[in-house]
Amino acid sequence: MPTYIVLLGPPGAGKGTQAQILAKSTNLAHVSSGDLFRENLKNQTELGKLAKSFMDKGELVPDDVTIKMIRDRISRPDCEAGAILDGFPRTPAQATALERMLLDFKGEVNLVPYITAAENILVERASGRWTCRAHGHIYHEKFNPPKQAGVCDVDGSEVYQRDDDKVETVAKRIRVYLEQTMPLVDYYRKAGKLAEIDGTQAVEQVTKQMLAALKK
Ligand code: ADP
Ligand code: ADP
Repeated sequence: MPTYIVLLGPPGAGKGTQAQILAKSTNLAHVSSGDLFRENLKNQTELGKLAKSFMDKGELVPDDVTIKMIRDRISRPDCEAGAILDGFPRTPAQATALERMLLDFKGEVNLVPYITAAENILVERASGRWTCRAHGHIYHEKFNPPKQAGVCDVDGSEVYQRDDDKVETVAKRIRVYLEQTMPLVDYYRKAGKLAEIDGTQAVEQVTKQMLAALKK
């Protein structure tokens, strides 16, 4: 049976960072809805242009196109063993749709690590984030700078600041998260799938707790 892990937590909590580390130490694919939208934007697809109009405002992209994009992605062969879902689901409708589509793959959501941090930390992290152009590798100007300024350690591509990582947009995204995504915390807690993790710890400590939760 395939394994599906849903990473939950506000913008800047460390979901992407942890997903990239976990994907290396498991056979699970890293599926990031935000990366998929940014890839579409880079390729100038209709979906990319539509997504950008919402992303720039710090709002969520509509459920129907987001759900379709994720269904297509987890249908690909590299997700045969399962996936680490980073940034999806983000609304109750997306969570219900995910459950339905995982039935088709004879799987279910197995674990939901919920990474948290106080708002001031989230803003400091997201607004200092640098993202690699080629593959979305994640850095921070203070907490995790690339070895050579402006260049990704892994693939040598340019690192840039996302348009939506400006302080005002980050604050808006946190509000949207509280309104639209917080209900999922309760939902997965009631289902007995939630593993709460203190995201203010060092990256390595957070990873350690994630791996411990996975082993259970
Ligand atoms: P999310 O995917 O939840 O928005 P990211 O993984 O992209 O979060 O992390 C947001 C920013 O915070 C990035 O710049 C990243 O380098 C940094 N970061 C992530 N985890 C930690 C941590 N445990 N301590 C310090 N900085 C971190
Ligand atoms: P972060 O890691 O900081 O939370 P993401 O890269 O996950 O940021 O998301 C960036 C933006 O992409 C969101 O603000 C939203 O506009 C869009 N997005 C990403 N995932 C979803 C989703 N599941 N549903 C709707 N919109 C999404």
